[in-house]
Amino acid sequence: MADIREAFCPRCGGPAGEGIDGLCGKCRLAETRWLECEPRAVHTYCPSCGAQKSGQLWTDSEQERQEIGPGLALSALRLHPEVRRPQFEVGIREVSANRSMADVTVTGTLYGEPIRDRCTVELVWNKEQCDRCNRIAGSYYEGIVQVRATDRRLTDRELDVATRIAHETEASLQGEGARLSYISDLKETKDGIDIVVGSQAIGLAISQAVSQRLGGRYTTHPKLVGEKAGRPIYRVTYLVRLYPFLRGDVIESGGADLEIVSVESNHVRGVDLATGRPRTVRDEEPKRLIGHGSDATEALVTHLDHGMLGLIDPVTSAAIEVPRPSWLTVEAGAQVRVLRDRDRLVVLG
Ligand SMILES: [Zn+2]
Ligand SMILES: [Zn+2]
Repeated sequence: MADIREAFCPRCGGPAGEGIDGLCGKCRLAETRWLECEPRAVHTYCPSCGAQKSGQLWTDSEQERQEIGPGLALSALRLHPEVRRPQFEVGIREVSANRSMADVTVTGTLYGEPIRDRCTVELVWNKEQCDRCNRIAGSYYEGIVQVRATDRRLTDRELDVATRIAHETEASLQGEGARLSYISDLKETKDGIDIVVGSQAIGLAISQAVSQRLGGRYTTHPKLVGEKAGRPIYRVTYLVRLYPFLRGDVIESGGADLEIVSVESNHVRGVDLATGRPRTVRDEEPKRLIGHGSDATEALVTHLDHGMLGLIDPVTSAAIEVPRPSWLTVEAGAQVRVLRDRDRLVVLG
């Protein structure tokens, strides 16, 4: 018979609730503070790049104020842990450039009873320069990638490709959250490109990618520039040296003319333009650049005779004869591609 006493709510005499004190849902609710609301919520963002600060941590964000507002307002609310199926309605009014007011209505159930309440949160839009913009503004950097070619200048294509690789590397590292892997400056110099970078990670990544894609080697040259909190600070120069020759270059080596097919770390592979046979020329063998295949012009074939090829020089219009490449199938009246080398013409085909 002990159950009879517990079957009624001790406060209102209605049916008892499930708790040990026997209070019904309504009476329990009446003495529970189930919604607490901080009067303000602060959002800190970087006015230059839009990054958001959470605690001490900055993250990049594309979110606009309208998208951030509701979540920010809700971050000021504390709900009793037993509130079930909470729903929120947030209305935001802009007050000034750095203030908005959010009216939040909360509904749900607690102890089986429907609940509803509202509160107002002041949203503060706080500007602060982020870690990255702060470093860039202070001209802070950790390295310089210098892209150069060996014994020649960079071609336009190499300049374009190296620049694109640098930007792609930055975008990919930033996308992975490496915020300080930025490029603070990228400029063409007399002999190549200088890329000023915010971290050694991006300096290394660019150097690796450029030397791999364009053919070359890189060396790193660290220099001690100071100390921070007892730790040495280095600035690193990454010197990327592209190989002296490009695929498609026509060179002269050991009396033979070669068109380069591939450039490797210590040799080039090419085709001998007289015989059509492949040849390898090691780095230490002397070579001389004649030009690039893409610079070739067309010359008219006038006749074929005893291993010689009669041509009209496309510049001087003079009739000349050159040795006929053994692999070349051509008839009088056709055009062949030639490169000028001083006073002679080199037939490419
Ligand atoms: Zn009651
Ligand atoms: Zn910023």
